[in-house]
Amino acid sequence: MKTGAKIKLEGMVQGVGFRPFIHRLSEKFALAGGVLNTASGVEIEVEGEEGKIQAFYQRLQKKLPPLAKITNRHITWMQPKGYKNFVIKESRKTQTRSVLVSPDISICNHCRKELWTHGNRRYLYPFINCTNCGPRFSIIENLPFDRPWTTMKKFKLCAVCKSEFSDINQRRYHSQPNACAICGPNVELVKNSRPDKKSSRGNKAIIETINLLKKGGIIAIKGLGGFHLSCDANNLAAIKELRKRKQRPFKPFALMAKDIKEVSKICKLSKLEKNLLCGHERPILLLKKKKTSPAIEAIAPQNNYLGVMLPYTALHYLLFSQQPTALNLLVMTSGNISDDPIEIDNSQAKENLKTICDYFLLHNRDIYNRLDDSIVQVINNKAVILRRSRGYTPLPFFMQKKMKNILSLGAELKNTICLSRDKFIFLSQYLGDLKTYSTFAFYKQTILRFIHLFAVSPKIIAYDYHPDYLSTQFAQSLKSKYNNLRLFPVQHHQAHIASVIAEHKIEKKVIGICFDGAGLGLDNKIWGGEFFTGTLNNLQRKAHLEYLPLPGADKAIEQPYRMAISYLYQVFREDIYKLGINFIKKHGIYNIGNIIKVIKTNPLLTSSAGRLFDAVSALLGICDIITYEAQAAIELQMLAEKSNTKQRYIFDITKREQNDPLVIKAKNVICQIVRDIEKGVPREEIARKFHNGLAEISLRVSDLLRRQTNTSTIVLAGGVFQNKLFSETLIKLLQKAEFKIYHNELVPPNDGAVSLGQLAIANE
Ligand code: ZN
Ligand code: ZN
Ligand code: FE
Repeated sequence: MKTGAKIKLEGMVQGVGFRPFIHRLSEKFALAGGVLNTASGVEIEVEGEEGKIQAFYQRLQKKLPPLAKITNRHITWMQPKGYKNFVIKESRKTQTRSVLVSPDISICNHCRKELWTHGNRRYLYPFINCTNCGPRFSIIENLPFDRPWTTMKKFKLCAVCKSEFSDINQRRYHSQPNACAICGPNVELVKNSRPDKKSSRGNKAIIETINLLKKGGIIAIKGLGGFHLSCDANNLAAIKELRKRKQRPFKPFALMAKDIKEVSKICKLSKLEKNLLCGHERPILLLKKKKTSPAIEAIAPQNNYLGVMLPYTALHYLLFSQQPTALNLLVMTSGNISDDPIEIDNSQAKENLKTICDYFLLHNRDIYNRLDDSIVQVINNKAVILRRSRGYTPLPFFMQKKMKNILSLGAELKNTICLSRDKFIFLSQYLGDLKTYSTFAFYKQTILRFIHLFAVSPKIIAYDYHPDYLSTQFAQSLKSKYNNLRLFPVQHHQAHIASVIAEHKIEKKVIGICFDGAGLGLDNKIWGGEFFTGTLNNLQRKAHLEYLPLPGADKAIEQPYRMAISYLYQVFREDIYKLGINFIKKHGIYNIGNIIKVIKTNPLLTSSAGRLFDAVSALLGICDIITYEAQAAIELQMLAEKSNTKQRYIFDITKREQNDPLVIKAKNVICQIVRDIEKGVPREEIARKFHNGLAEISLRVSDLLRRQTNTSTIVLAGGVFQNKLFSETLIKLLQKAEFKIYHNELVPPNDGAVSLGQLAIANE
């Protein structure tokens, strides 16, 4: 008996080779009908035998294309309309157009095989891709995802590529970026100096690049989402030269390894970590260093981890290909100057990176959407994204309920923005620190592009409670431009907690611990060591680290020794000068006296946990002045990881009035640290005892709050939770005490999560 059915699918089902997949599947089950992209997914009509339709429906779930994901499906039976065959229908003009875009995908195994096959049309072609791999978001100017709306529009398909594109039985059916050496983009190597302007193209350019790298050259290489600065990672002199030219003395460089074997030579690798490295997102993975050498030390100084990724484009694979002595490890750091966004444009890169690199390996496929490499670390046996960009953006969060139309603007550092409509939340890629002029321009551009691409007209603008953030000022400027916009300020640390609640779709009441750098509190003090209880629309502050002066505001963040003086002064007052620790000698009575003067007159107070890590780091002489964000805290963690002590320092808890929040005091801890330094206890041990102590007091406070609120669900958020040692120490304690623990995984624990949290709260 012939019958018909309409199947609606929601999820990641567009731009991932989904319609050809449906087409082929329908042929397998001898079904007629059609498939159509809709605003929320795809709609399929099929006609044929009922049993075959049932089987087709079941198979849909099982053998999806690698990038597809179905979050919701629904079938209704209906009278057959009399389809003769199966058709891929054009999206209806009147209908709200689809809003799902695939992220960029690393080259697939099929394409890699072709790359190395003599005689294949695409043998050694650097821009090889197919329906299952290659550039996506980075080249999309508009939707739907069709070639005229991508930066591939300037390359006219040759006859063979065109036939691949139109043939349903080919791997490149409807593959928008399809290309070959005859019709597609290509590479060019250009020297960075005036008199010698000769350049080479194609494979010759790649071979020359390899030889230059081998000789210690620094090359700016245009990739998928932006430029990298590259040199041979086994060449200490080249690494030192790159650090000097990039004015980046200590911040770790990312590495690209030839293959997983090379990674396992220098890093420890768990099974989960192997899978993450090889996954199609190809993030930079932070891995525990195994072997060290002077070159490796110079790549990540004072660090126990290396950020490593595998090649993700054909061009990368070609760079590692020259036999018999192939390169095995390349530095692949972001191609930018200081805090500017990474370069994406050939001529701008030539101008801006000319003081850093010797040569440029360029290509002529334009990058429309800038994407940094994403960064991931395994924390608590889970993949935690620390920077979310290439490979992940713009995959939406699929929510259970319909969302309001909201634009959230994030905070200031490591910023992102978020948009919601229907059941989707779209989170932007990592944008950077807004204080740089060009980053702020990139930020504004991304907001406009996201609004346009995902067809959202926001009714609510959520932003940080801090009036001085550029994002806050931007919110206010939007309000003055558009009527009917509702402004919705959100406290920074409530937003951090909300980001975890939104990510894990938690409906219950939670206890939230937010340990962070800094954010403005509701009492206009600088918060950052906070405990909340409640739900999304009612997060109440129940405990915090004791307030301490932040001497010199932003200066105190750049110069952690100032926070150490703040803590020492609070404990020892004028006796500070008599302390028998090296810190006092190092900074001198005069300098310390000046900072105490600031402390006495400075009304700015902070409860930031990040600043406490800074203070301890400086007190131990690890880091007095930072050259990159959180350097002092990171170096403290690295030292602490070298000790196994179970001992800990004891924090105190006090409370003023019945309804006041609990206050966690570090006075005792600072006293004990000073005594331990005087006694000559190794710094590793002191650093570890501090980590253990802060974890233990967090457990104690959580326990008190559990008794008050009757909830065991606990949420961890804020930049401090990027500290793997601290996170895992605390999580172990909480697990033992039978808490149910959630933390950020799909968004970073740092301020990259703030926009998501703001949006979740504004949606309530
Ligand atoms: Zn492929
Ligand atoms: Zn072609
Ligand atoms: Fe924050």
